[in-house]
Amino acid sequence: MGGGLLDRELSRARMDGLIVDRDHAEYDKYRRIWNGLADRRPTAIVRARTVEDVRKTVRVAADQGTLLAVRSGGHSLPGLSTCDDGIVLDLSLINYVTVDAAAGVVEVGGGALLGDLDKAGAHAGLVTPAGVVSHTGVAGLTLGGGMGWLSRRFGLTIDNLLGAEVVTADGRLIWASADSEPDLFWGLRGGGGNFGVVTRFKFRMHPLGPIVVGSWTYSANDYEAVLRGFQGLSSAAPRELTTSFELMSNELAVTACWSGAQENAAAIVSPFGNLASPVTGSFGNTAYVDLQKRSDESDAWGQRHYSKGGFLDKIDDAAIRCIQSAVASSPNARSHIYVLQLGGTIGDVEEAATPYSGRAASYYWIANAIWDESSDDMRCIEWGRNSAKSLAAISMQGNYVNEQADFGKDVAFGAYGVEKYTRLARLKARYDPANLFRLNQNIEPMP
Ligand code: FAD
Repeated sequence: MGGGLLDRELSRARMDGLIVDRDHAEYDKYRRIWNGLADRRPTAIVRARTVEDVRKTVRVAADQGTLLAVRSGGHSLPGLSTCDDGIVLDLSLINYVTVDAAAGVVEVGGGALLGDLDKAGAHAGLVTPAGVVSHTGVAGLTLGGGMGWLSRRFGLTIDNLLGAEVVTADGRLIWASADSEPDLFWGLRGGGGNFGVVTRFKFRMHPLGPIVVGSWTYSANDYEAVLRGFQGLSSAAPRELTTSFELMSNELAVTACWSGAQENAAAIVSPFGNLASPVTGSFGNTAYVDLQKRSDESDAWGQRHYSKGGFLDKIDDAAIRCIQSAVASSPNARSHIYVLQLGGTIGDVEEAATPYSGRAASYYWIANAIWDESSDDMRCIEWGRNSAKSLAAISMQGNYVNEQADFGKDVAFGAYGVEKYTRLARLKARYDPANLFRLNQNIEPMP
């Protein structure tokens, strides 16, 4: 459909929000997403203000057969929240967060960021566990699963989801929860953006006291000893502790986050600073909202990224060798392998209870290639792809749909496995038979 005609249809829908077309002065600002590699030119960006705007945009896209990308935080690694031609439905203006402290629940607009959620929770001494970078969108993260510093203690973000308001492909507004449209509610907890546009989430919250964070860097010479020690300590850790490491060509950074009783913090966290002789180190009380912003700058918008992850049950010698050999050939000092500890409460939920497919994993790895110049695209993508391939060979079945730089049926199928993929595909046929919502790790409708 031509840009003029599409513009006309959107204008006729009389939105409260803004329609940013190619002639708009801020078109370039609003067409960008987080990954600088995804440099696309949609026909129009609808900056929705209301649920009605969302419904109208979905109807126009469905009626006109237009490609529709849905964007909240804009962090899609493969760039699926934008498109060439077609419409981008941008929810970032619907970013309210309303905490009901007495009930221990929070309602979150479909375009809110983790920083909005964390900040509102902190005022009430409450938290909903999510990811580790504050400018990530609540919507995209939740729809894939949502893992972060508090998942071992309080579960994945989806394990705290009580309900979601969804605009479906036919423009209906549906509330999905355990009691209302339970099949759709199942699909939303890991099935990505396949089933509609979520305009509101309702989450459970948990009281969170002060947290203690230890961070150390170790030299390249100590990689093996540190990672062996890390495996031993982290695998015996209680649920209130979550650890991670980031291995670059010249440095290994280890972080341990303790959310349990303060008096136990030093005994549990400080051994992670004695895995060898650290080059730098810090240990102490940290506001959770500050921890959540620690990587905001290094993960700033606009850099070029190719990232792929997978699940491990342990950091054994094979994993250590694989990670070491990947970073030995990394294209620059920024590119790295990041590992986050999972397990704990995440594994209390039955594997079949949600589409998210990694309940048994103890660790999550991600190979992150990061660079700035388009002339480095091939070299950096190749490193990311090869590193991920070698780690995938020693990883568990299943994968995390939210952190896959590539997309296509094989990616979704590989992530969910045959049983869950089939269930998702039947659900897709019920809620989006024409596959309007296909810019995602797509589930093809199966009648
Ligand atoms: P967007 O690009 O806006 O959306 C991604 C996709 O989600 C869209 O293509 C669409 O299919 C769907 N979508 C978005 N909004 C809606 C909506 N309202 N309704 C329906 N579908 C929608 N994941 C973790 O679990 N833990 C982490 O700690 C973590 N850290 C990250 C840090 C960075 C820097 C980045 C880039 C990603 C991180 N991720 C993490 C992965 C993250 O969960 C995914 O990239 C997620 O898709 C981002 O959501 P978004 O709303 O920001 O992205």
